[in-house]
Amino acid sequence: MARQLDGATRDALVERVRFYRDLGLTEFYRRPVDASVLAAELEPQALQAAAVEPEAESSNSQPNIFGEEPAIPARKSISAPPEIAAAVSAGDRAAALQMIRDEIGECTRCALHKGRNKIVFADGDPNARLMFVGEGPGADEDAQGLPFVGRAGQLLNNMIAAMGLTREQVYIANVVKCRPPGNRTPEPDEANTCTPFLFRQIDVVRPQVLVALGATAATYLLGHRQPLAGLRGRVHAFRGMQLIVTYHPAFLLRDPRQKKEAWADLQMAMKELGLKKAASSS
Ligand code: SF4
Repeated sequence: MARQLDGATRDALVERVRFYRDLGLTEFYRRPVDASVLAAELEPQALQAAAVEPEAESSNSQPNIFGEEPAIPARKSISAPPEIAAAVSAGDRAAALQMIRDEIGECTRCALHKGRNKIVFADGDPNARLMFVGEGPGADEDAQGLPFVGRAGQLLNNMIAAMGLTREQVYIANVVKCRPPGNRTPEPDEANTCTPFLFRQIDVVRPQVLVALGATAATYLLGHRQPLAGLRGRVHAFRGMQLIVTYHPAFLLRDPRQKKEAWADLQMAMKELGLKKAASSS
């Protein structure tokens, strides 16, 4: 029999799951219910603790949060990125990007087309030295057809300004170009269907530094799943470019204490770009 949750508990669980998603925990599994403990689990406190309690993390060890169990079906594989396209000259990049946009057209290649209002292709300078990649459009982006224009976008703008740049000087895109229903994480088949366009955009812009915003962007750029904690704090080689992983601005809105960590990531990007510190992040 399905367990009924009251509205407050359900809302708390939804918020908790979103929080874990931003930490890199993107899949959750239900184990068979043991009848002998069901009554105890249904106690409100026990239920709350058992639902999504995280494993304790220490600075010295990484929990095996992606460890497979025999009863869990294998994940869909994430396709490897295509070969690097021939370099496009600076003067031709805007036109090359427009060709990619034209090819996308009124795309129905994955299920996300059903709920979208506008395809969110990208925003910014085709010759940018710095590119940000997020997860997917939210409600504001879906309405305007531009990436990062809501509250998270305002924070991203502030982060860019703190680096001494303007939004017009960088290039911004997402893993998927259509809004997932309810802002859920894109399914692997959706992301794998859409990311070839993202890789082509990256190959045209060829930024010196790419910043992956959140676990989903890092997963589909690097081609494998790994907790965000294991990806941050270093520079990854990526298709002849440098890739830095940091938190998604939406996560930073929910947990502002992590802004300091995000700022440290952005300072790594600034060092690679030879930028001087313009302002402290806030
Ligand atoms: Fe097409 Fe990408 Fe939109 Fe899916 S998310 S419908 S692949 S543009």
